[in-house]
Amino acid sequence: MAGSSSYHRGMSSTAAPTTSAAAGGPSLPQERRLVTEVPGPRSRELFARKSAAVAAGVGVAVPIAVVAAGGGVVVDADGNSFVDLGSGIAVTSVGNAHPGVVAAVTEQVAAFTHTCFTIAAYDGYVAVAEALNRLTPGDHEKRTALFNSGAEAVENAVKIARKHTGRQAVVVFDHAYHGRTNLTMALTAKNQPYKDGFGPFAPEVYRVPMSYPFHDGLSGPEAAKRAISQIEKQVGAANTAAVLIEPIQGEGGFVVPAPGFLPALSEWTTANGVVFIADEVQTGFARTGAMFASEHEGIVPDVVTTAKGMAGGLPLSAVTGRAEIMDSAHVGGLGGTYGGNPVACAAALAAIGAFEHDGLVERAREIGDVVLQALRTAQSGDPRIGDVRGRGAMVAMELVDPATGDPDPGLTGRVVRHAYEHGVIALTAGTYGNVVRFLPPLAIDDDLLREGLDVVLEGLATA
Ligand SMILES: *Cc1c(COP(=O)(O)O)cnc(C)c1O
Repeated sequence: MAGSSSYHRGMSSTAAPTTSAAAGGPSLPQERRLVTEVPGPRSRELFARKSAAVAAGVGVAVPIAVVAAGGGVVVDADGNSFVDLGSGIAVTSVGNAHPGVVAAVTEQVAAFTHTCFTIAAYDGYVAVAEALNRLTPGDHEKRTALFNSGAEAVENAVKIARKHTGRQAVVVFDHAYHGRTNLTMALTAKNQPYKDGFGPFAPEVYRVPMSYPFHDGLSGPEAAKRAISQIEKQVGAANTAAVLIEPIQGEGGFVVPAPGFLPALSEWTTANGVVFIADEVQTGFARTGAMFASEHEGIVPDVVTTAKGMAGGLPLSAVTGRAEIMDSAHVGGLGGTYGGNPVACAAALAAIGAFEHDGLVERAREIGDVVLQALRTAQSGDPRIGDVRGRGAMVAMELVDPATGDPDPGLTGRVVRHAYEHGVIALTAGTYGNVVRFLPPLAIDDDLLREGLDVVLEGLATA
């Protein structure tokens, strides 16, 4: 059954965890181990039930039933152990079931699970706000509001910018991804799968060209001039409430804008009374080798949205910004039943402690060096790897047809399929679906990381 995809490293298949060994965290054997084909029988059973019970629109990229995860591995119900190169989607950066997060959550869940912060307050919410005000770029006076998802944070950032400026237009970029709610669908660029048939979309959203060096060949200042000219001519600075941008695009394909693009946009917004919102939902919390990706170009956004990596896997998001902007929303204007849930806040405080004190920013840089080196070496012998880019533990390769330069989403799909069939979770991205992206947990060790990359690149070589 295990066949050619079977692989054992330093451990026999009989030692595969059973359900009783389902505890996650770094104590899980840090190894790639296949004891069945993928998906195995237990995973297939779950997917049969899923098809009958879960709405078809909720897709699953990797067909496995997870029972435990930790460090750099995810273990399925069949006893297979996968190298995790996705961290969910950049969420379990501190490591899945991180011991500090587990302890903080356990303590909080036993004390109280909910009050609704807008009914009765608690320490954890305020402590997370204080931490974000301290850690996000800039030493100006800041305020924070907490929510549940990245999309909800982005929606609230736009609400606040509109209230503050008295203007309505929101400028977003080609290839942008900001979520799946009605407003954030409008802010998101890509039709399939995010928007198709789900309109009408929210008005007063204007899309301008992104800086995408591999495709446009423009310098940062040139690309900024093109975008700003379009805003001025087609929207009007005086109508523009906010410019909203991911400092490195996530779902759009890990597009790193050319140097100078973000600073030029930031200067233009300041000069025109426009709120500059950095959507750091995917890039935040050490992921890119800085606490926030805005730091790489020294920009200080007026408002920052965060979520994914913040709370070690629990749902929590935030909007952090200049006090005078944030406080322009009236009392009662911001909130929600679950926003800043005490259990999620406890998890965030533990995770933020790990980001700050366990050297995870440096670790993200080291991971980036390993991944970039592996991909660049592969690129030198394979013209299908059109581009290798990224920062820290947020790195991608863009796959093209060498003859035409056209995107090759088919090849990309075969590569990630080969990866999971051989015990490695890797994700795709990109407007054209032709990007393989790497978002390993920062808790992964170098041997496992290299092994995971080897499997992905072997998939490319044989695809
Ligand atoms: C994932 C993501 C979102 C949406 O977050 P959800 O928690 O899925 O709503 C928004 N912006 C960016 C940059 C993201 O990567």
